[in-house]
Amino acid sequence: MEESQRSSKTADCEYYFNTKQPVRTLFRLFKTEKKNLAFSALFFLIKNSPAWALPIITAYIINGVSAALQHPETKPQQIRSIIMYLIVFAVLAIQNIGTHTVFIYFLAKSIRNIEAGMRLSIVRRLQQLSVAFHDKTATGVIQSKVLRDVEAIRNVIMIGMNIYLPAITSFLIAFVMTLKNAPVVSLLYAVCIPVVLLIMRIFRRRMNVTNSVLRHDMEKMTAEITEMIAMLPVTKAHGLEKAEEEKLEKEFRVVFRNGLHLDIVSALFGSTNWVAFQLLQIACLAVTVPFAFSGRIGAGDIILYQGFFNMVLNSVATVINMYPDIMRGIDAVRSVGEILESDEIERNEGKPKMMTVAGEVSFHNVSFSYPDASLHALNDLSFTVKAGESVAFVGESGSGKSTIMQLILGLRHPQAGTVKIDGTDLTTIDLRSYRRFISVVPQSVILFSGSIFQNIGYGLPKVTREQVTEAARLANALEFIEKLPDGFDTGIGDSGIKLSGGQRQRIAIARALVRNPHILIFDEATSALDVISEKLVQDAIDTLIQGRTCFIVAHRLSTVRNVDRIFVLKEGRIIEEGRYDQLVNAGGEFAHLRSLQ
Ligand code: ADP
Ligand code: MG
Repeated sequence: MEESQRSSKTADCEYYFNTKQPVRTLFRLFKTEKKNLAFSALFFLIKNSPAWALPIITAYIINGVSAALQHPETKPQQIRSIIMYLIVFAVLAIQNIGTHTVFIYFLAKSIRNIEAGMRLSIVRRLQQLSVAFHDKTATGVIQSKVLRDVEAIRNVIMIGMNIYLPAITSFLIAFVMTLKNAPVVSLLYAVCIPVVLLIMRIFRRRMNVTNSVLRHDMEKMTAEITEMIAMLPVTKAHGLEKAEEEKLEKEFRVVFRNGLHLDIVSALFGSTNWVAFQLLQIACLAVTVPFAFSGRIGAGDIILYQGFFNMVLNSVATVINMYPDIMRGIDAVRSVGEILESDEIERNEGKPKMMTVAGEVSFHNVSFSYPDASLHALNDLSFTVKAGESVAFVGESGSGKSTIMQLILGLRHPQAGTVKIDGTDLTTIDLRSYRRFISVVPQSVILFSGSIFQNIGYGLPKVTREQVTEAARLANALEFIEKLPDGFDTGIGDSGIKLSGGQRQRIAIARALVRNPHILIFDEATSALDVISEKLVQDAIDTLIQGRTCFIVAHRLSTVRNVDRIFVLKEGRIIEEGRYDQLVNAGGEFAHLRSLQ
């Protein structure tokens, strides 16, 4: 099975991702990282120990000092103890340098593993998802899921481990220590926590509102700036520089106003928070000082409880402050789930593979409509194309030609009827094995940044220089490639040379050809070309179609003169069928279309 070949065991989150239980999903992400996380937790306890020890040691020291003052004869012994405490604290503090790094090392390792695993899962699922899924999901949305949402999930895990865990541990240590030594003081915590919660709640809501208003303004401003830059030539040509400036100035003013508002609300929040904390500290002192006076606790214990009290308040505040990030992460789990949980995938596992393809393609009463479309794109279509036959589909745009090609490729499946290859229903076979025998030359050629050789040999790791050269020759591309600075090694794309439409098209044909396909599909491969390029491409096509089943979708009817049969489509139905001269003489739709060109 595929599972055993997986390089990374963390990269399986598509199997347990469940957006209905986002928190549980988050925890499950850790599953493979148990060991790293356990080490990380261990080192966290060690590295953070000075923070917990400080109030305790301070209390001991002050108690020691006051004991020495009360009973001078114990002074030398108290001094010895105090020096020991100081040494212990220094040692605890110094060890933090190494242990904190080790803590982060284990933590970061596991979190980065999870992050990479999640991205790999998404990418794998994107490859499996059907054309229908990609149709309705914009590229930008997918990009933001792979980049930003995964980042947000990673962030949530980081916050959980790096901020929540310390806060909760500190809270527990402080609470338990207090409960054990002075239960009355712990009662004070119970009173104070709701107060902190209440203050934060009131301000949070207002801050959230102003925050999202500002974010909205910023997005709008960014969009307007982008538009302004794109419009520059038009703006200049029309002398509208001043108007553009004023338009943007208005936008900047809005951002200024709402930004200022947010700053003031934050300032108010910050200071109220601070004052509340001070008042609560005073309240704590008001409880502990009388206790010390009555001798129930030592003088140093005032500091101890003050320290613990601080820890408790800070823990609560931290947990609340980070809450929005946690929510963003949970939202991101939902967002990523839209890809990982989508079941619009092609299911090939377990279906028989095609070891060879003769190339007979047949449609049997095929009807197809796109999701959300009211009309059928294809209506009860039936035809058979014999192995080795070349056929053309013509018809006005929107008549269903490209849809037929997608059905032949098995990229989409009909709602009614069947598409068969060599007599076998496409839905019953492993489509990946079938598609190895097909090549497609589309209207807009997609080349990736890499050399011409790599582009032609795409997906064929063992392809030789000779094979690529031969394919380029047959595609009428050899001549121009050899004139390029580095021949087949010339880079194309962003950092390389720019090719003309006709050159790109001929590279695409070479790419189709080098795979030695049994079935060839040209979907308007020559429509966007000028007359000379079209002639070169057309000549190439005429050589290629020999001995293969070929489907040619063509706009210009002159280009389908040599095919065995022509189907004329209208509104998803075949209305005429025959050889070129038969159709011309018949004086029907084809003849009509031809007279228009
Ligand atoms: P042709 O290639 O002959 O121009 P198509 O096969 O692309 O026509 O389209 C047939 C019909 O299906 C048209 O009405 C078109 O609007 C519709 N259509 C094509 N692609 C999609 C799509 N991805 N989603 C929804 N409708 C589509
Ligand atoms: Mg089309």
